Amino acid sequence: MAINSQHIVIIGGGPAGLEAASCLGTAGYRVTVLEKEKQTGGKLLIWDKLFPEFRNSDKVLNHLSNGFKTNPPQILTNAEVVSVIPENGQHRINLRDGQAFQADTVLITTGFKLYNAEKKEEYGYQIYENVITSFDLEKQLKTGNPIRIEAGLTPRRIAFIHCVGSRDIKSGNIYCSRTCCITGVKQAIEIKRRLSDAEVFNFYMDLRMFGQNFEELYIEAQQKWGVTFIRGRVSEIAENKDNSLQLKAEDTLSGRPIKMSFDLVVLLAGMVPEPRTVEIGKSAGLEFTSGNFLAGLDSHISQNETNTPGIFIAGTCREPLSVAETLTDARAATVKMISWLRENETSHKKPLIKRDND
Ligand SMILES: Cc1cc2nc3c(=O)[nH]c(=O)nc-3n(C[C@H](O)[C@H](O)[C@H](O)COP(=O)(O)OP(=O)(O)OC[C@H]3O[C@@H](n4cnc5c(N)ncnc54)[C@H](O)[C@@H]3O)c2cc1C
Ligand code: SF4
Repeated sequence: MAINSQHIVIIGGGPAGLEAASCLGTAGYRVTVLEKEKQTGGKLLIWDKLFPEFRNSDKVLNHLSNGFKTNPPQILTNAEVVSVIPENGQHRINLRDGQAFQADTVLITTGFKLYNAEKKEEYGYQIYENVITSFDLEKQLKTGNPIRIEAGLTPRRIAFIHCVGSRDIKSGNIYCSRTCCITGVKQAIEIKRRLSDAEVFNFYMDLRMFGQNFEELYIEAQQKWGVTFIRGRVSEIAENKDNSLQLKAEDTLSGRPIKMSFDLVVLLAGMVPEPRTVEIGKSAGLEFTSGNFLAGLDSHISQNETNTPGIFIAGTCREPLSVAETLTDARAATVKMISWLRENETSHKKPLIKRDND
C-alpha cells in the first residue's frame, strides 16, 4: 500500500483514538498515537461489562486492536501531551517529557474524567467508607471477586444516586452526562446477578434512556431483576454507628420525605473534561462548550472540526458519549480529516515530517 507522507498525530489512545487510527491507517495515512498511560484502551481497561448487551469490554478492545492489520500506526505510550501549537501551517505537539512532534493534522481524543464526588460533601464520598462511585464499583466488578463492603460483609441493601455533579447548578455542571442513567441500570442489574437477595434502589431526577435498547434494559431491571426506581432527590447521607448509611430524600412524585438505611451507596458521578485537555485546547486556540469540553465548529454540520484549521476532535473530550457513539464519532472525524488533508496536500506539498529530536 502506498503510504501518504502526510503525518497525523492522534492524542489519546482510548476507544476514539484507536478507532480513528485504524480508519486513517486503512486509508493509507501515516499515523502516530500518543497515549499518556502505559497501555492504550482508555476506560475500556477499567470497565467490566458494557451496556446495553453486557458485552465484556475486552471484546471491544480486541476489535480495536484487530483494526491495525493494514498500515498499523506508531503507538507511543507514557507520552502525555501538554500543548499543541499551530506553526507554519503545521502543528507542534509538545510532550510532558520535553519531546515534540510535528503533524500536518491533529486529532484530539483525550476523553473524560469522572466528576470529583468529594465536592458533594452531603453524600460523604471519601468520608464514609461505604459510599463509592460508579467508577469504584466498576473496578470492583472487574476483579470478579464477590461484592463486599469495607467490613468484608456482603451488602444487602444498595442505593444508586443519579446526577452526581451533573444537571446541578451548584456543582457548576448544568449539562447531562448522558451515560450515567444507563450505567446505573447496568450496574444495578449486575449487582442483582451476583447478589440475587440484595435489594437495589435507584434514586433519580429523570431517567434518560436515549440509546438503542436502553429503555428495554430499564424495563428488564424492574421486571426481571426487581430493581426499584424512586423519583427522588437525595439531600443527605449520614453514617450510622454500625457503618450503615442513612439516606434522606424527597420522593418528588408523592412529595413525601424518605429516610432509608443502606449498606452501600453508589454515586453515579458525571463526566467532566480532563484538565489537561483544557490546557491543550487553550494552547491550540480552541473554543469550549459551556461545560468546558472542546467545542466543534458547528453543532449540526461540523462537530469534529474546530475553529483552528487542521485540529479535529472526537469522542468524550467534546461531549459525554457511549462507546458506540464514541466509535461512530471517531469514524466521522476521520472523514473530515481526510478531506481536509486532500485539500491541503494540493495547496502546499511538504517533505516527510521528522520528530523534532530525531
Ligand atoms: C462508570 C462508567 C461506566 C461506563 N460504562 C459504559 C458501558 O457499559 N458502555 C458504554 O457504551 N459506555 C460506557 N461508559 C462511557 C465510556 O467510558 C466512554 O464512551 C468511552 O470511554 C469514551 O472513549 P474516549 O476515547 O472518548 O475516552 P477515554 O476512554 O477516556 O480515553 C481517552 C484516552 O486518552 C488518554 N489521554 C488523556 N489525556 C491525554 C494526554 N494529555 N496525552 C495523551 N493521552 C491522553 C487517556 O489516557 C485515555 O487512554 C461508561 C462511563 C462511565 C463513567
Ligand atoms: S444521564 Fe441520568 S444520571 Fe446522568 S446526568 Fe443525565 S439524567 Fe443525570
